[in-house]
Amino acid sequence: MADNNNNSNNNEEQYCSMCHRPSSEVGKLIRLAPGLNICTDCMQKSLDTIANSPFPGPFGFNGQGPFSGNGSNNGQAGSKGKSGEDVEDADIEGNNVPSTDTNPDVVESDEENDEENKNNNQGFGGFMPFGFMPEFMQPNIKPNKKKKKKKPALDFNNLPAPHIIKAKLDEYVVGQEHAKKEIAVAVYNHYKRIEAEKNGDIEIEKSNMLMIGPTGSGKTYLVKTLAKLLQVPLAITDATTLTEAGYIGDDVESVLSKLLAAADNDVKEAENGIVFIDEIDKIAKKRNSNSRDVSGEAVQQGLLKLLEGADVEVPVGSTSKNAMVPMTTMNTSNILFICGGAFPDLPEIIKKRLNKQSGIGFTSDLKDKYDNDPNILHKVTTEDLREYGMIPEFLGRLPIVFALDGLTEEMLMQILSEPKNAILRQYQRLLALDEVDLAFDDDAKRAIAKKALEKKTGARALRAIIEEFMLDIMYEIPKDDNIGRVTITGDYVNGKGSPLIEMRSEPFRIQKQNPM
Ligand code: ADP
Repeated sequence: MADNNNNSNNNEEQYCSMCHRPSSEVGKLIRLAPGLNICTDCMQKSLDTIANSPFPGPFGFNGQGPFSGNGSNNGQAGSKGKSGEDVEDADIEGNNVPSTDTNPDVVESDEENDEENKNNNQGFGGFMPFGFMPEFMQPNIKPNKKKKKKKPALDFNNLPAPHIIKAKLDEYVVGQEHAKKEIAVAVYNHYKRIEAEKNGDIEIEKSNMLMIGPTGSGKTYLVKTLAKLLQVPLAITDATTLTEAGYIGDDVESVLSKLLAAADNDVKEAENGIVFIDEIDKIAKKRNSNSRDVSGEAVQQGLLKLLEGADVEVPVGSTSKNAMVPMTTMNTSNILFICGGAFPDLPEIIKKRLNKQSGIGFTSDLKDKYDNDPNILHKVTTEDLREYGMIPEFLGRLPIVFALDGLTEEMLMQILSEPKNAILRQYQRLLALDEVDLAFDDDAKRAIAKKALEKKTGARALRAIIEEFMLDIMYEIPKDDNIGRVTITGDYVNGKGSPLIEMRSEPFRIQKQNPM
């Protein structure tokens, strides 16, 4: 009898029914049915595809089907959830199914994953859908590398105290002492409030914040550092992209979609996260406008229920709602909202108010008393913000208002080199990999800070300035193995000289004809 599996006995060339390659090329074909032969490659691919499918298949690859393994997992592969400890819903292939009832306290270890996969393999090993699956064809279920280790969730009982939060922020953020204190206390109270409400104690007001500060003064950086420190998901969004529902632009709910995405679609985790809405001053009420204010006042109105705490329908994996996007419900009561903005005309409004107050009666002051006050923003009141165009209901939901200082030359110099991941340190680290010491003298730092101040974009200007002159250094230095140390001077930053180069033995100035 002709054996279709044994092609050598057949004079006629056989072809794989899937890839149509001849048996002379792909080797022995496997006969599935009369006239249906496939090569081992295609067989493997098919099995891998089935094994990677997130859906419960008829063959029990995910441990739920009628053929599910007669191994130790007994059809429960990938989920020990029912029995207790392991709570992350993961199917056998390691496709994470974000779970809403995940216990955030449990940190899954690699050993657990390995054990799980072992079980999965056993379950699979017992499955022989075609009745003749040789060992080499069994799907190659590797230890689940893709599966993300669950981050330790915020431990409400061991919240870092405000002074510890501030000390951590100090490691990264220069100056802004008042802002750091405000944030540390507000965040501490926010998460304590969540705990207190769980225990049914009195209701404590939410600590949503409004940060006012010039551009590049560290508003976003503060929030990012905070979220990293607390290990909570963070969504950063720009208020200018938001519009009233139904108009072109993102609905306000899109900020929650971003948060959900930051939490890997884990609703529970996202509900304890932080949302930072930047450029909030851009949604101030438009003055003297006859048309509908869809990107100003209407957005403030739309944000009210989010800030307050409500159940909100959120599109998953998209920033806009439509029929094709799955929705989920998120409660925003425990989400900390931080709004930030530069409020460029605010100092004028504050000055006007202060001048009006101080111009009355015996205590009347000079009219220009506040003109050069660098701390004028710290004197802001909700009245000023209302004058600016923020609606009272919106301000009412941001009880903590504080200002950041504009960065001075000294602060910019510190930002260059003091924080843990300071820009200069990053360059030093890069050159250290080439065993070259990189130094910046004080003049150089001052020159960079001065240039940054001129640009009026705060610390954001620093990187661009440094990159401009560091390009040549980073290009030239690796050419010469003898260079041991490079010192950047103030003159060099100002384009007047060359950096000081020291060879591994003696120092000398780099020659003009070889400018770097
Ligand atoms: P904004 O206030 O406009 O949100 P950012 O927080 O985005 O400004 O600041 C831009 C960059 O400048 C940050 O990524 C950070 O590297 C740096 N920076 C700004 N302020 C500080 C600061 N006070 N301390 C350290 N770095 C800062």
